[in-house]
Amino acid sequence: MLGAAVWCAMAVVTSILAGRRGRDSMLWFLYGAAVWPVALAHLFVLPDRMKLVAGSGWKLCPDCAGKVPPEATICSFCGHNFLEAE
Ligand SMILES: [Zn+2]
Repeated sequence: MLGAAVWCAMAVVTSILAGRRGRDSMLWFLYGAAVWPVALAHLFVLPDRMKLVAGSGWKLCPDCAGKVPPEATICSFCGHNFLEAE
């Protein structure tokens, strides 16, 4: 019973950490619930999206979370219009 509670808590921790690193927290919660030791290790192998964006001056698209140059007005991934949104 205790093992199940710890497993559940680690799935939540995985999803929170994933969200902070610019990943889809719902997807990572499911991943963590299935195999959190693998999911956690995987998460720290992947680059931190938030740091990538902060360090480069690029901006994140609010629709698709794609990384676009600061001077872009339209997202090259999904066509989101930054001028209309602001
Ligand atoms: Zn986009």
